[in-house]
Amino acid sequence: MVLPTVLKRKHSLKGKQLLPVIRKLRDIQDAHGIKQLARTSSARRTENMSNEDVLKAVEDLTGENGTELLELAGKDPNDEDFAKLLLHVCILHANEKGQPEGQDLQDPELGHSSATTADREQGPTCTSNSRKATDKDQDSNGGKRRKLQDSTTEVKDKDGTQIQQGESLDLVKIDKRIKELNDKSSSSLSKRKDTLKNSLNFFLQLLRKDCTISNCTPDDLKHFLVWKDDFGKTPVHRINCTFLGTKELGSCECPRRLAAGTVSVMVQNLSEIFYESGRGKFWDERSDTGNPAAAHCIKQYVKLIQEEQAAAHVVPKQAKPIFLGKIKRIASYIDNE
Ligand SMILES: [Zn+2]
Repeated sequence: MVLPTVLKRKHSLKGKQLLPVIRKLRDIQDAHGIKQLARTSSARRTENMSNEDVLKAVEDLTGENGTELLELAGKDPNDEDFAKLLLHVCILHANEKGQPEGQDLQDPELGHSSATTADREQGPTCTSNSRKATDKDQDSNGGKRRKLQDSTTEVKDKDGTQIQQGESLDLVKIDKRIKELNDKSSSSLSKRKDTLKNSLNFFLQLLRKDCTISNCTPDDLKHFLVWKDDFGKTPVHRINCTFLGTKELGSCECPRRLAAGTVSVMVQNLSEIFYESGRGKFWDERSDTGNPAAAHCIKQYVKLIQEEQAAAHVVPKQAKPIFLGKIKRIASYIDNE
């Protein structure tokens, strides 16, 4: 009996190049050609795992969405056999390239490390603290390394970080903070996306009774963009208009449109909306399927708008810089309210 390959302890592909994994998976044609799939642990047969668990294991291992990786490899994201193969390929690659950070530092010959610079730059994962400290030390001392295991039991960093041997990382706390920051940055964006999604739904219903986000075409989307354009406030002056090249709104009859930058951001957000609705990242011209916001004609539309506004000398707006003194005054004003 051949023993199955099992993911080596603490090996991970987070922050590593996943291109080799995608290539390897892409080249596999027969989903059942491999007799025994690699496992995340010896007791857990990959063959018996649910699709959900497989995709979760892939995400745990790579930090990337398994469905997306399948799509990038040109495989059907709903094909459960290929999802298992993806996990299999990820485990093999992790065993080969995903050794824990700083492992090389334990070599007695510190000068001859086997890890590449790229490996070290990934930042420490969950390895022992003495190793992490050594990495930090190396960062601040420009290449000099100290062996901490033998001589020192405690490290004090310049920024006040204290690391003691045997202490474990509070990953839950770190992850919570990362999530908090992510939530902050995405909340205003998701609100804007929600508004856009509502307005798209509304338009598609008007366009055709059976038209929805899950079945609309790039052509429908182009209609939506032109419709939206009418709500813009940026004057696009005609070549013979006296206001041409000025920022003035003027009293001319030239059309008011959405600024080209706004259109471009809107298309990006639409692409995310379609992606989140399960329409993938790309548009396939041959089968007329995929993400309509990624279609060639939409890119063409954005480009034409940009060219038209460049010709009309529309100056892209920039946010006015705000200085610290002003922020402090605003903050104290809000505090007093
Ligand atoms: Zn004008």
